[in-house]
Amino acid sequence: MNIINELDAAIVMKAKKSWWEHHPKTAHSVTDFSFEEDGKYFGSCLRKQYYDWKEVEPLWETINPTRCYAREFGSYVQKFVEDLLALRGFLIQKEVKLPPIKIEGLTKPLHGRLDDILSRADTMDRTMVEIKSCHGRKFNSKQFGIMYHGPTRENVYQLGMYKKYFPETIQNHHLIYFSREDFNRRDFVDTENMWVPTEFDFKYWVMLEDYLANKVLPKRTYRANADKGRSAFPCSWCDYDSVCWEIHRELEGE
Ligand code: SF4
Repeated sequence: MNIINELDAAIVMKAKKSWWEHHPKTAHSVTDFSFEEDGKYFGSCLRKQYYDWKEVEPLWETINPTRCYAREFGSYVQKFVEDLLALRGFLIQKEVKLPPIKIEGLTKPLHGRLDDILSRADTMDRTMVEIKSCHGRKFNSKQFGIMYHGPTRENVYQLGMYKKYFPETIQNHHLIYFSREDFNRRDFVDTENMWVPTEFDFKYWVMLEDYLANKVLPKRTYRANADKGRSAFPCSWCDYDSVCWEIHRELEGE
């Protein structure tokens, strides 16, 4: 018996179960928001979103288990941070859902689930928190590390959507990064050391809805990785890589 093989089989099985729990899709997800800044594309690849909407199931037998472990570790880090905050007396609302939001110009609603709302028994103030776990270089890299460049644009926009669309008044908005490699920690606070936008251009989701209505597979839309020179970097954690690069290779977008 090889126990690593057993673990790998279990983590892929968990990923498959989670995939089915999130399908069929009924709304655009805050975490998929795609946008442009300075002529660069940010956010989730449109083709990946198309596959999600069309319920194209990943080829599970080709999935690299390390990708699935990384996702699960993110959840454990979030729980770990929440437990520590609870020890400091915070009351914590976890995994708080946005109600489905109708966006002008889109046929499908927007939905999302923010990580936490913190409060204390002795004050009315409430704090919205998004917790991001990451590898050490995400902190330290001079090319893209948050110590030098601030929080990622995707994370900031994500928090912006929760700030804008959450139906109750929340006074404070934080993005917390926690490195699961060298335990660096960093707290970014709206208007203190980051600026969280509340205006959004939904043009990529308008395009996506056209693709879906016309059953046209979108071209691959993603930003090449800045540091490693790998042009298909987001594909290395995308569950559709085999479908996209092998089965649909010859279709539009190649
Ligand atoms: S494998 Fe890459 S190009 Fe294809 S859907 Fe995923 S992120 Fe997009």
